[in-house]
Amino acid sequence: MKHPTSLHFLGAGVAAHIYALVARDVLGPDGLRMTMLDKSHDVPDRTLCVWGSSSSAISAAAVAQWKHVRMGHGQRSIDLDLGSMVYSQYTAASIRALADERLDVSREVGEATGPRAQESVSLDSCDRGSDRFPATVSLLQHFRGWRIRTTEPMFDIDVATMMDFRVDQSHGVCFVYVLPYANNEALVECTVFSASVWDAEQYEMRLKDYIANIIGTSGYQIIATEVGVIPMTDRVPQRLHGPSWIAIGTAGGLTKPTTGYTVARCVRDAERMMIAYQRTGVFTAPAPPPGRFRWYDQLLLRIIRDEPHEVPKILFTLFSRNPIEKIFRFLDEGTSLADEVTIFWSLPWRPFLRAIIRR
Ligand SMILES: Cc1cc2nc3c(=O)[nH]c(=O)nc-3n(C[C@H](O)[C@H](O)[C@H](O)COP(=O)(O)OP(=O)(O)OC[C@H]3O[C@@H](n4cnc5c(N)ncnc54)[C@H](O)[C@@H]3O)c2cc1C
Repeated sequence: MKHPTSLHFLGAGVAAHIYALVARDVLGPDGLRMTMLDKSHDVPDRTLCVWGSSSSAISAAAVAQWKHVRMGHGQRSIDLDLGSMVYSQYTAASIRALADERLDVSREVGEATGPRAQESVSLDSCDRGSDRFPATVSLLQHFRGWRIRTTEPMFDIDVATMMDFRVDQSHGVCFVYVLPYANNEALVECTVFSASVWDAEQYEMRLKDYIANIIGTSGYQIIATEVGVIPMTDRVPQRLHGPSWIAIGTAGGLTKPTTGYTVARCVRDAERMMIAYQRTGVFTAPAPPPGRFRWYDQLLLRIIRDEPHEVPKILFTLFSRNPIEKIFRFLDEGTSLADEVTIFWSLPWRPFLRAIIRR
């Protein structure tokens, strides 16, 4: 199969570099020309976590990995062994550095308005505002975290805390996650699902409480701060803006509404896109996941909006009553209907029933 003359990326953020790396992996480097246009030279760095197998086109960009994940709620915390999977951390900068090492990308700075006539394929991570399905629920996942260094060894470096709800829940669904890099160093992040972002003090009050009462130390210094906002919406954007003009990344609807996870979805989408191109000679957007997954997301979004106090118990129960491999497959939208029945059967069902009735 002959390669397209070039892949032109409109926006050069996380998704563009993932699709570029996967294209090289699947199609090979020969004849593959890549250009990236972004409005800015500066790439905002961000911590990006992914679960799954440790081998993919981006795995060499991982900056940390864990074999166990922890969930906390009420008086309990549970540690789950990931078996053959890993929970990996990347950064926007590490993925871009891997692309710079492996690919010959020509970069330009400027406004990306649309494809150029001479480019055969345009992969677009800029939001063009056109919807396949408009939003019925729009919330935000917002967070503020501290990278801290403690005076005493406080962390188990094999265990990443994914969600610990043992924090004040009074203004939205709130949990802390902890990514340890050494026994005395970790990123401790306060994450919230709610309609609007908070003042810095609201996150920091919870971070201080969590570090004092759950991690159990007062001897630490803050060495970096991370803040961020991810949309939580059931909006489904258009993926095809024209022939060979395909939306990717968050602009292509690849951010999971209820979790914010995007990176692994981009890797899978890019693999399917490149393999289909190899087989058919046509570049197009892969088929969307079955519609029932959007409905599950809508139900959970409505519960987060209308009954946030129910959410910690639902998410803790999901992880404590189901095999971790099945939960990740469900969140990756790869389960069968029979799997999903057993998962929903394990959860508190009343909030879901109310969410089905409510709009
Ligand atoms: C702080 C933070 C933490 C996150 N953590 C995780 C995580 O742990 N795991 C996970 O899977 N996902 C995570 N996400 C979600 C998601 O992976 C990131 O938002 C990711 O950056 C999405 O990639 P993208 O390329 O779609 O968007 P971006 O990385 O934001 O890239 C879009 C690019 O397009 C450029 N652009 C936009 N409009 C134009 C225009 N008109 N002309 C030219 N250039 C333009 C922008 O400058 C930008 O560089 C996180 C998001 C944030 C904000």
